[in-house]
Order: sequence, then structure tokens, then C-alpha cells
Amino acid sequence: MGFEHFGTDMADKFRKDISIYAPFKMKIVAVGLDTLMGGIIIATSVNPIDIHYGPKKGSRRLTVRMAHLAKTYVKVGDLVSPEDSKIADYGSTGKYGGSPHLHIEIDTDVEYPQYSPTLSRSSKLWKKGKNSTLNPMDVFKVDASGQRGFKQTFSHAKASRGWVKPDDKTTVDLDGKIVKAKSV
Ligand SMILES: [Zn+2]
Repeated sequence: MGFEHFGTDMADKFRKDISIYAPFKMKIVAVGLDTLMGGIIIATSVNPIDIHYGPKKGSRRLTVRMAHLAKTYVKVGDLVSPEDSKIADYGSTGKYGGSPHLHIEIDTDVEYPQYSPTLSRSSKLWKKGKNSTLNPMDVFKVDASGQRGFKQTFSHAKASRGWVKPDDKTTVDLDGKIVKAKSV
């Protein structure tokens, strides 16, 4: 694609539910329509989050940035948790929207959450920053059986297979067992 992709592109498992829920308890820092990234939500975790894999393995507070959202249902200052109602619908908004998917970045920098290595120049809400991101798949776990009552059913977006790194194809399930992504 000519530039490095920081983050992961996802779509819902059955390509019919575009709802997005909070990945962890978090405070909304920015929300709105960004000139380049489309509908966005930027938030910081309230508590330290388990990083189960990779060079930053451990526990720390994290920033999450979401882009290409079709609709958002939160406002700046809101506190949201995974069990709450949906915070957004994913879509294809923004200059790089493509087919409907969620672009999600996880960052270890919670002091300057709006600064991302994805942009080479600052946009309206999403600013040009240094890279302190980590692979979202080092944080997320998959409910492989789909039997535990979690509402979120993300898998990697078929539409953007060129953007998926080999690392993104494996993650762990809720018990820590390695799961290979299908249909990537
Ligand atoms: Zn992306």
C-alpha cells in the first residue's frame, strides 16, 4: 500500500451486524467527523489493560482510536464499558474508507491520545504523531466458540486483506489458546 498500516482492519464475523462496543472501560476523548479518517472515536482506558502477547506484554493503560465509522453514539467525556450499548456503527467514511470496516489502533500513549503514526500530516481530529502503537491482536482475545455471551463478533475484514500483516492472523481465545483467523 506504500505506507505502513498501524492498527488492524476488522468487520463483523457474519457481515451483517455493524455494531461496535467498547473493548474495555474507557473515557471518550474525541468523537466526530475527521477530514481524513471519517467518523472517529478516540478514548483512553480507565484501568490498566492486559497485553497478552508481543514486546509490550504486561499491563498498562491504553488509548484506542477507531476510524471509518458510519455513526457514533457517544460524546466527549462519556465513560463506556463493554457491557453497555453500542458506541458506534462501522462504515466506510473518510478518505481511506474503502469497503465498510473498522480501522482500530491501540496506543500505549495515553497522554496524547489523538496523535497517530498513521497520518503524515495532522487532520481535524486525528493528529500526526510518533509511533507508540502496538498490534491490537496483542490485546484482543477471540470468543472462538461464540458461546460466552459477548456481543462483539469481529473478524478481520475480507475487504482489506492486503492490509493484514502475518501477525494479525493469529490471536488467542479467552482461555489463551492460539486461534488462526479464517478467510483472511
Ligand atoms: Zn486500517
